[in-house]
Amino acid sequence: MAVSRDLLAGVGKDIKAEIDAVQGNEIFIRTQLDEAGIISEFEVLARGNSYSAPAVINNLAAGEMVVHNHPSGDLTPSAPDIRLAAKLAERDIGFAIINNQAEQIYVVVEAGPGRVNKKLNKKEILNYFKKEGNLDQELENFSERKEQLITAEKIIDSFNQHQIDFIEAGTGTGKSFAYLIPALFYNNLNNAKIVVSTNTINLQEQLVNKDLLILKRVLDFDFKAVLVKGRNNYLCLRKYKNFKQKYQQQETEITIELFEELNDWKENTKTGEKSEIDFQIKAAVWNEIAAESDLCLKTACPFYNKCYFMQARKEVYRADILIVNHHLLLSDARVKVETGSAGRGILPNFNHLIIDEAHNIGEIATAHLGYPLYQSLLDRWLKRLSGEKNSLLSQIREDISFTIGCDQARMREILDKRLIPTAQKIRDLIPQYFKELQDLIGEFKDKKITVNEKVKNNAVWQEFFQTAIDLAAYLKNELTYLQIIYENLYLELAESNDENELKLKSTIGRCQDLIKRVEFNLAAEDENYVFWLESSYYRGNTQVVQKSVPIDVGKFLPDLIWSRLSNIIFTSATITTAGSFNYFYQQTGIKQAAELKVESPFDYAKQAQLLIPLDFPEPNKKEFLPELVSSLAALLKKTTGSTMVLFTSYYMLNYCYNNLQANLEDQGIRLLAQSKLSRNYILQQFQTESNTVIFGTSSFWEGVDLPGDLLKYLVMVKLPFPVPGEPLYKAKEKLLEKQGLNPFFNLALPDAVIRFRQGFGRLIRSKKDKGLIILYDRRLKDRKYGKMFLQSLPDSCPVIETTQQKIIEKIE
Ligand code: SF4
Repeated sequence: MAVSRDLLAGVGKDIKAEIDAVQGNEIFIRTQLDEAGIISEFEVLARGNSYSAPAVINNLAAGEMVVHNHPSGDLTPSAPDIRLAAKLAERDIGFAIINNQAEQIYVVVEAGPGRVNKKLNKKEILNYFKKEGNLDQELENFSERKEQLITAEKIIDSFNQHQIDFIEAGTGTGKSFAYLIPALFYNNLNNAKIVVSTNTINLQEQLVNKDLLILKRVLDFDFKAVLVKGRNNYLCLRKYKNFKQKYQQQETEITIELFEELNDWKENTKTGEKSEIDFQIKAAVWNEIAAESDLCLKTACPFYNKCYFMQARKEVYRADILIVNHHLLLSDARVKVETGSAGRGILPNFNHLIIDEAHNIGEIATAHLGYPLYQSLLDRWLKRLSGEKNSLLSQIREDISFTIGCDQARMREILDKRLIPTAQKIRDLIPQYFKELQDLIGEFKDKKITVNEKVKNNAVWQEFFQTAIDLAAYLKNELTYLQIIYENLYLELAESNDENELKLKSTIGRCQDLIKRVEFNLAAEDENYVFWLESSYYRGNTQVVQKSVPIDVGKFLPDLIWSRLSNIIFTSATITTAGSFNYFYQQTGIKQAAELKVESPFDYAKQAQLLIPLDFPEPNKKEFLPELVSSLAALLKKTTGSTMVLFTSYYMLNYCYNNLQANLEDQGIRLLAQSKLSRNYILQQFQTESNTVIFGTSSFWEGVDLPGDLLKYLVMVKLPFPVPGEPLYKAKEKLLEKQGLNPFFNLALPDAVIRFRQGFGRLIRSKKDKGLIILYDRRLKDRKYGKMFLQSLPDSCPVIETTQQKIIEKIE
């Protein structure tokens, strides 16, 4: 059975010494192989007893091999060995068993490609960033930046040592090249896929349409980069065929104009990507024709060879570097964890991940791990099941007639006496369910109500509770009937990918998901989650949502994603607060990382000033808003454009807009308010029309890039502390208190500092930019905590205490 190999040649004695040191018990070892496939290095990861050792598989890399000893000398793999070997094989990690003398080795799974971790040549790569280096020769305005060199060097180390890095690189460092060049070299040397995840489309576009194109010319080897989009972004040709038929049979409500526009696009599109569509299309219509994983026939699909998504997927698998967004990264991780298979994900296996705009990862992961329940989720599921002429239930009726060998009478009885009436009950209950939730919210003052004992004791909750129990029960009954139909009519077709079999399987899966959401939100007792009800106004209607998200997402992220990877680089211009990475450790759940903080190369002493009018009331005073209106009126008349005002709430934004808009319009100044116009429209107008001012909140605090004279004046009305009444915030506060930590210093303050730094970073985008930042919040100077904000700004930026009048005088 055992195979004696020379694999252990150089290290056998040392491994034996380690085994001897634990009296011959089991040890669990990570090994690296040299170019000849011989174990050249090893590290003991765990020590156990005479029959087992903990399998520590975090932070292993593709191409490595895990080795453990069987003290009995019998090298036959046990069942757990085989299971672990299969799991590791998905990550291209090998698995072997040795005897206690470390002389014999039985290789259960060979290490995959990239088994030799070839190290990057630091000198060669750093030359690219130097004066007269390759980047200098290619780029017109290139200048050697020590900050970029330091960042690139750290990233090279990270690839070479397979470690986790937190890198804060100030605006203007050139961090995208600093990570892309080492990443592409590493891929070229080791054939290891690299994934780069960003938060904003802007950064994705910059990487794909600019930076990577430049690197195609700069590097002397070729590479393939692909921007990965979720399946739902692609047209499904099979669904489109059904949609067209429905339209021709007048079974859909879409207009001739929309159908013709859509058909025209479908005939001409090369990519089938929704982003190409330049006419209005409702989400409900797109959903009818978009690709979906549980409604895909895969290789059995008649359109498989032409399928846009499948073609895109092939490109993803062929790519060297993949650009994704944080949502897709987390969806991929969730699918892999939930299915227990790395092969089921959206992305191929990878070990090297770069997360840019990393300060957002905690917030996005929080939303991603939630179980929200919207009425539209239930309505959509029910519509597919029984709401339309061609609904699933009508197709099941036809299939019963054609299925020989099944008990047709029983199937018809289940359909007519169980499935259809239950679907009707569910249809009746859904509006009642959401109406009662709406009534419940009406019992309280807020639009967001945390589900706690007080809410659960309310009489309206008791009523709703019964409705929710009924809804869950009917959904469970429907699920049972659907499963009976599936087993009797379709189970045998499972391999053939019959369309109705697929639809029913998908309906069953979604029904299970809905039951989980209804029950989870109703019980509202998982202590790791916060549960709340939220009422919002959307397109003329009030909609109510039940929400539930993890309170401390850092608890979930290591198992969800980090532990599968061997090398992660987190980077952003704003990770630290007053120089510390503590808040980021807390958000990511990572215990240990190599840290680097690099200042921006901009000369803030010459390029910017932060002005604080001290003749202004504190934001909590009632005169703050009226005075803000009159101060902004004078300021904006003087700046006449090139100005962005950042608010911390829509209420404040609208108050100022309503009191200033007419007056400023008379002066020829146009206010572009986020509450009235879309973000894209605002940015496009601001860049093309003079005398325009942005009034923004939320998303305008980050990701806005307006270089040169486009933006010369940045106004921040308040320090951006989180809204204290938010259910998630309150839950986090409680958790910190339980842990004996001060919520203000461990949550509100670091959160506000990072947001403040993001806002601050909107002004100076290049070495030539100059401008003023006006902050109407004297707490920065008056309160002790103001120091945290000041210590988080670039060292050289002048902070001037002044008056409103002097600020006006400074404006040229
Ligand atoms: S392969 Fe799947 S996504 Fe593509 S056309 Fe067929 S069903 Fe649609």
